[in-house]
Amino acid sequence: MVRIKQTSFILATSYVIGLIAATVVVGAEPKAAAYHTHPSAKRYTVKLTSGDNVYVGHPIVHNKRETVLMRRNGRIKLFKANEVDRVERVSSSFKPKTARQLRVELQKEFGSKYEVSITPHYVVVHPPGAYKKWALPFEQFYIRFRQSMTARGMSLQQAEFPMVSIVLLNRDEYNRFASKYTSFSFSTAGYYRPFSNRMITYDASGGNNRSQTSPSFQTMTTVIHEATHQAAHNVGIHPRFFPQPKWFKEGLAGMFEAPGVNNPAENRRPADRISKDNLRAAARLFEQVDKPGLVELMVRSDGLFDKDAASAYGISWAMSSYLFEKFPRNYVRYIKLMNMDPANSSWTPDARLKVFNDSFGSPARVEGGLRSYVASLAK
Ligand SMILES: [Zn+2]
Repeated sequence: MVRIKQTSFILATSYVIGLIAATVVVGAEPKAAAYHTHPSAKRYTVKLTSGDNVYVGHPIVHNKRETVLMRRNGRIKLFKANEVDRVERVSSSFKPKTARQLRVELQKEFGSKYEVSITPHYVVVHPPGAYKKWALPFEQFYIRFRQSMTARGMSLQQAEFPMVSIVLLNRDEYNRFASKYTSFSFSTAGYYRPFSNRMITYDASGGNNRSQTSPSFQTMTTVIHEATHQAAHNVGIHPRFFPQPKWFKEGLAGMFEAPGVNNPAENRRPADRISKDNLRAAARLFEQVDKPGLVELMVRSDGLFDKDAASAYGISWAMSSYLFEKFPRNYVRYIKLMNMDPANSSWTPDARLKVFNDSFGSPARVEGGLRSYVASLAK
């Protein structure tokens, strides 16, 4: 559960930024709302000057109040109006940096203590000689993740940018690196940030292979959780710039923590598809609160994540697992509806409820089925 504080902080941060930005977009530049479903061919490139710095990228939002730039390295950067000196259109298309270009940049940033490897969809910074242990598994996970989603009828985009994953040498390096962020929590083992599009973790085994009961396996659970966030933000399931209900984002990542979901070919028992900690937390919550209304609470707001994180992650996992396993078409429809207008009224409680209703029916009805599902799994 070490990941909880950090992921909730990161997503909360991105959620807040997303909300602010979404408001701007809705008011000023409605076309930008659907940017994330558009292929890069429709984008143009600007050169933005801010003081002594020059940034090149596609403006997702550009108005009197602020400019939000999707840079060629896949990072999103936000500028307030007073930070922008000049914006000049330099091309009618937008070309992301190649994996080779990013590799050169990352090697410079992380130095000779690290090796930087390229796979078809990732650029991975990792301890030297650990390609098989740390670079290849990201690629293999990505392929399995896509298969799981497309098998349920979801059409996914190709990742537009090479995804950057960083595996630091050890805990000390991780703490040092991550504490550059002011609100970093030292209890985490990894995180993904939608704005940087980077996933960061560290090698907890100190370079050794350990058994599944060792701390390194726990770290792998975090890695898979965060890798799910990263993959989902890069194939069009979650937009990188707009918020989505947190039960959906955390529930999806929680589901893939289970070996039977993230690697079904090698983990075929039904029990392998259960995330045990999350199931326990969901069952406990349903016991404590036997009155219906929990699903509607999660659908309308993310508030429970701040009040009781373990329960929030638990019920988010349970809702996701139930809807994904039992109603895959509705689940795909839900994603489609959300992404038709990712800035959707800044995701007010009513807007969130409407999309849920249109996809799955009423939260009350879903909760009836969900409670039986959780009870039968928890037996
Ligand atoms: Zn998460």
